[in-house]
Amino acid sequence: MGRYTVNFKCHSTGHCCKDVICLPTPWDVVRIVREVGAKPEDFIEFVTPETLWDVEASDPTWLDVRGERYMMALRRIEKGCFFLQEKTHYCEIYESRPLLCRLYPFKLHESRDGQLNGFSLHADVGCPKNRDGVYDTQPLYDMYLVDKGHHDDYDSLVEVFNQRDYPGKKPEDFLDMFLPQAV
Ligand code: SF4
Ligand code: SF4
Repeated sequence: MGRYTVNFKCHSTGHCCKDVICLPTPWDVVRIVREVGAKPEDFIEFVTPETLWDVEASDPTWLDVRGERYMMALRRIEKGCFFLQEKTHYCEIYESRPLLCRLYPFKLHESRDGQLNGFSLHADVGCPKNRDGVYDTQPLYDMYLVDKGHHDDYDSLVEVFNQRDYPGKKPEDFLDMFLPQAV
């Protein structure tokens, strides 16, 4: 673990964009729509517990649609993430990509009173975790805190959505809770 710096360099293997499902926040979706002009119906899908088997049922971002659970995700197609460039393994929306993508594969370590202790690399066997680069931990922590705030907003939106019940309710309706106002 590094307190002030953490050694890592992405070698664009594409693993995290091919084999991992990216779960954006509404803030990420709004940014992508605004900056890239992508249509949410193209790049967003709502996935079920069968696909997200490793996400706990208690996760506050599960959408409840008449007793069935769904979670907002970046659409995956044969090549992997909708935004992955197949030949180069580069992200087509790199400057606008979700914060989760920017924070991967860094793992935060905090003290009991919530102070930054440093970052290490997730024990994900899919990432080669090359150490031939260096990141300052403070900007990573600042980004983590922004993402944490976005998740608080996300949780609140989902709570309101889940309290609603009406004929024809579908997971895609969740997008209407933040896109018309924000875009
Ligand atoms: S948005 Fe970009 S960085 Fe994130 S998973 Fe998709 S291709 Fe990878
Ligand atoms: S798995 Fe690791 S090396 Fe490969 S693209 Fe993702 S962050 Fe980069």
